[in-house]
Amino acid sequence: MDKKYVYAFEEGHKDLKEILGGKGANLAEMSNLGIKVPPGFTVTTEVCATYHQNNKNYPQEVKDQIAQKLSELETKMGKKLGDASDPLLVSVRSGAAASMPGMMDTILNLGLNDQSVEGLAEKSNNPRFAWDSYRRFIQMFADVVMGVDGSEFETILENIKDTVGAEYDTDLTAGHLEEIVKRYRAKIVELKGVDFPQDPKEQLQLAIDAVFNSWNNYRAIRYLEINNIKGLIGTAVNIQAMVFGNLSENSGTGVCFTRNPSTGENKFYGEYLMNAQGEDVVAGIRTPKPVGALEEQNKIIYDELVATCDRVEKHYRDMQDMEFTIQEGKLFILQARNGKRTAAAAVRIAVELEKEGVLNKEEALMKIQPEQLDQLLHKQLDPIAKAQAEVVATGLPASPGAAVGQVVFTASEAYVKAQSGLDVVLVRIETSPEDIDGMHSAKGILTARGGMTSHAAVVARGMGTCCVAGCADIVINEKAKQFTIKASGVVVKEGDYITLDGGEGNVYLGKLNTEDPTLSGDFGTIMKWSDEIRKLKIRTNADTPYDAKVARKFGAEGIGLCRTEHMFFEGDRIKAVREMILASNIEGRKKALGKLLPYQKKDFIGLFHSMEGYPVTVRLLDPPLHEFLPTTEKDIYDLAREMEVDAGTLKAKISDLHEFNPMLGHRGCRLAITYPEIYDMQVQAIIEAALEVSKECPTCGRHSQVVPEIMIPLVGHSKEFSILKKRIVGLAEAIIKNSGIVMKYKVGTMIEVPRAAVTADQIATEAEFFSFGTNDLTQMGCGFSRDDAGKFLKEYVASGIYDRDPFEVLDQDGVGELIRIAVKKGRGVRADLKIGICGEHGGDPSSVEFCHLQGFDYVSCSPFRIPIAKLAAAQAVIRERH
Ligand code: PEP
Ligand code: MG
Repeated sequence: MDKKYVYAFEEGHKDLKEILGGKGANLAEMSNLGIKVPPGFTVTTEVCATYHQNNKNYPQEVKDQIAQKLSELETKMGKKLGDASDPLLVSVRSGAAASMPGMMDTILNLGLNDQSVEGLAEKSNNPRFAWDSYRRFIQMFADVVMGVDGSEFETILENIKDTVGAEYDTDLTAGHLEEIVKRYRAKIVELKGVDFPQDPKEQLQLAIDAVFNSWNNYRAIRYLEINNIKGLIGTAVNIQAMVFGNLSENSGTGVCFTRNPSTGENKFYGEYLMNAQGEDVVAGIRTPKPVGALEEQNKIIYDELVATCDRVEKHYRDMQDMEFTIQEGKLFILQARNGKRTAAAAVRIAVELEKEGVLNKEEALMKIQPEQLDQLLHKQLDPIAKAQAEVVATGLPASPGAAVGQVVFTASEAYVKAQSGLDVVLVRIETSPEDIDGMHSAKGILTARGGMTSHAAVVARGMGTCCVAGCADIVINEKAKQFTIKASGVVVKEGDYITLDGGEGNVYLGKLNTEDPTLSGDFGTIMKWSDEIRKLKIRTNADTPYDAKVARKFGAEGIGLCRTEHMFFEGDRIKAVREMILASNIEGRKKALGKLLPYQKKDFIGLFHSMEGYPVTVRLLDPPLHEFLPTTEKDIYDLAREMEVDAGTLKAKISDLHEFNPMLGHRGCRLAITYPEIYDMQVQAIIEAALEVSKECPTCGRHSQVVPEIMIPLVGHSKEFSILKKRIVGLAEAIIKNSGIVMKYKVGTMIEVPRAAVTADQIATEAEFFSFGTNDLTQMGCGFSRDDAGKFLKEYVASGIYDRDPFEVLDQDGVGELIRIAVKKGRGVRADLKIGICGEHGGDPSSVEFCHLQGFDYVSCSPFRIPIAKLAAAQAVIRERH
């Protein structure tokens, strides 16, 4: 049998997303469920891939199969494409396996030409509708297929409206629209040298090709990049019989969600417009009505819509985002898909679906993307500042969170300013897919037009960016780069600060204080379920008691990495550190280290207290010493004066410490091989602090749980480890013995040098724990400088060499293989070897899953990523089970 390239809706089902795209697969599923979907067929994503591989061509068989399905559709509808008396009209829409709202092209009303428009006018008994449909079709077709800028047509439309004194499009008569069509076509000939094609089959062929072409447009490519969607082969094309929401006052169109996509509340939610086509709702050109109003306008249809949506949600067991059209009082569903939602909504919906018995806990947890939880941890307005501030304008609460930033009026400005480190709020009349980069760069988005399902609202929610949409209280002058607040006449100019509250839709002048959110309720439930399921412990990277306390609030089960060097920069300590570096002999170094000892001890006491008996891994000094010395001429002279040394001597020392590759230089354990007294001081501080905390609470029992874990960085050779461990143990034992307290401690190592990974069996004979330092392991494993690779890694990712920046997401094939070897070899000689990760990857969901699968004991990440790591760890268990 020939390969199948084209599927009638009733031939597909929801699991064929890869080839039918999300939209095609769902239309197929719904058709088979008996939901009223206008009939149609889908050209597969494989055809799109073939088209691009073959110089924009595909085999004759594909064309034959399209013709066959078209003929079947004509039979089903009892109409023919382009028929002069009663034409079949179709829509041609894109739809890849992953949802990419508005990123690719769509053409509606295809099949109209100079003859069929008359037929449609007669059959619908509505010439105005027929000519308006024809006008819209030509405009879309010329834009998408022929590359004529839409503004050319807007000008013609506006001119005619002016001439005939029409305020709205709806004021134009059939005659006016016929004239517009004439001028549109003349414009196309003038600009492109060819006429708009009259043959409907040719129109269809060109439209399908144009959708395939839009797979490669900039917007689509950027959308895939930003959302990190990989592995798609192309877009499918859905050809579907048109139904009309603009046929009469008894017709309409809308978008609805089975639950509120902002808050997750289980309340039917959406917007619609009567006598309009779908694009009018989504484009935000007319402000639509809330779907609740439909109940008053047409209760029968409203009830049918609610019942249908309910059925579709139950079938998919998830919140649905649906498009519907009412044609002359008859309801049609044009699309259903799992709805995009804010993190708050995702959490609430998952918890409530479990309560309703629709999902079990595991399924509910899988409904939330761990990365999304970040949104919940975003700042909110400080309630006191909020109570005192004046709301100067209000729009729709399109995407929650608070944003404070300088006003910019173009997406490119937003991008450029954000790149230079400024916080910006992008203010636009309405956004369009071209604005994607600027929207992504902005802290917040404010639009004057459009509803909750407008482009700005949908895209901002997906990105987790705060957004106030449809703010009619302001008048934007994009050219003059300013907006005016209608009520007060206050003018806000580019560069002025404003604050947005995306949860309430409020706009404030100036900068308002923000605060971290409190986590409770449904979020707490998700965390509780994750805790019940996950096997990995979640620790945190924290260098101060404050960070440690924040991390405890998020549920950290220990510190996986305390970078002690960060403690060296505070207040007076840096002086002692510099004195130590500049000392010319061991006595001098010891004297300076003696000054640091009390500081370090105090820090560790704070950390042990904050961690309430959970394990604390303290890493001994790691960076090269030059990092503690000044670099500018002025700072060098100032320091020389302060330290009462000769500037020349200081300069000589700095130049002595200079290295060409400091990341591969005299740092980590190498420092302690040459200057063992540095680690001596740190070990003394750690052990004495742990003993002191133990002494302080002799009755609570907690003291016995302080088991400090002393970690040696940058080990590459087992002998480095054994030399240093011997010294650490000697010192620690003496201090503990002297104290009369029984206290355990562990000495382990970071695995961050490839040599350490491949000789892990030798190291593990002495090391009691491994913590993978995947920042350095990536640097040395891939050979990418941590400090410089950012310059070219973007291109590496764009050209597919790496799927993701390997410093963000673990390179599982390469660096991951080093880890697999180290785990196997390490556990081979020490079965109970404790294993964790403390590089940045410890907070990245896919890397967390990798760690789970390798049998790690814990991952360690920054405090704010703990909830993400918890959920990712639970999902890893669930995925492994199924
Ligand atoms: C690492 O290399 O992964 C690590 C955690 O250490 P640092 O980032 O401090 O080098
Ligand atoms: Mg490191």
